[in-house]
Amino acid sequence: MREVEARPGDTRTDLKGMPLAELEAFFARWGKERYRARQVSRWIYRKLADDFAEMTDLSKEFRVLLSASCRISVPPAERVEISSDGTEKRMFRLEDGEAVESVLIPDEGRRTLCISSQVGCPLGCGFCATGAMGFRRNLGSAEIVHQVCHFARLLEDRGERLSNVVFMGMGEPLRNVPEVSRAVDILLSQYGFGLSGKRVTVSTVGIVPEMLALAEKYPVSFAVSLNASRDAQRSLLMPVNRKYPLPELLAAMRRIPLQSGRKVTAEYVLLAGVNDTPGDAETLSRMLRGARIKVNLIPYNRHEGSPYESPRQETVDRFREILMAAGIQTITRERRGADIRAACGQLCADAKEKMSIHKKRG
Ligand code: SAH
Ligand code: SF4
Repeated sequence: MREVEARPGDTRTDLKGMPLAELEAFFARWGKERYRARQVSRWIYRKLADDFAEMTDLSKEFRVLLSASCRISVPPAERVEISSDGTEKRMFRLEDGEAVESVLIPDEGRRTLCISSQVGCPLGCGFCATGAMGFRRNLGSAEIVHQVCHFARLLEDRGERLSNVVFMGMGEPLRNVPEVSRAVDILLSQYGFGLSGKRVTVSTVGIVPEMLALAEKYPVSFAVSLNASRDAQRSLLMPVNRKYPLPELLAAMRRIPLQSGRKVTAEYVLLAGVNDTPGDAETLSRMLRGARIKVNLIPYNRHEGSPYESPRQETVDRFREILMAAGIQTITRERRGADIRAACGQLCADAKEKMSIHKKRG
């Protein structure tokens, strides 16, 4: 069993981020009953407790023992930014000084939280601000799940409920499979957040073996970042395409087990003059014909240091119409939170950069 890294000087075991089976094994080693693991998990994820003192159905003696040997990590939310469209971005300061961002997107009845799985990203897609940061490190499951705990609590205080979680923040979740799997277990299980797999989406560039393995293990939804209609074009934009080219990736997408009526999402970032021509739309529709795949078009969001431009609205609409005419369900993702750099591909929490902004403002 892996124990979450503790703050220097704090050797207590972090219970946040431990799936039930691990917590049971941990308590068993202590000579404690199995059911206690379920009780503690429910306090952490359902009642969002971050202090053992709150766990009033545990004996006082057990609570004292827990606080002496264990902890529930709470990385502080250092910066809160709210967009004019209601999108809310928070940056969490991690125990080693790194930082990650999460974005809450309110949309009619839904409250969707976009979470990060890595600090930076190793895959270097040319259009993405996170990719431009390079790779710093993987997040632990406690750091992944904490993003959800934090916003679930915030929403609860407002009389609202978190409805969806998407791994579309910083990082490539399938390059951090062990920790992402532990987090997914907590998100989907009744001892945890109890979210249906329909409401938890893993967005990936399509690391094929990991994608199929995760799909076998958990009924999560998948969104695969295609972003191109041809291999040569995709390899230029996304170096990972050299390892998992389009034919192999599409074959894998068709193999993902799906409940009836469900589809895999293909994400397609539209870059003006690069991959947004009618020819691209036609090639893409031929590739997707007959598959249980729907398309999510994402007009490129600008960020510093990237040479790309956003397409014009007419171009986006024409691209969508071509796909729709071929019978492919297609939506254009609304641009949310761009004024606070919270839109897709704009997250790049850099600890030092953010600290200096913080100082300038404060
Ligand atoms: N690493 C995963 C998840 C994080 S990126 C992945 O790539 O799928 C989430 C989505 O944002 C991906 O579909 C990605 O293609 C898209 N994206 C990245 N940079 C973007 C930008 N500048 N504008 C619009 N979408 C972008
Ligand atoms: Fe990483 Fe996804 Fe950005 Fe590519 S698009 S660099 S995989 S976060």
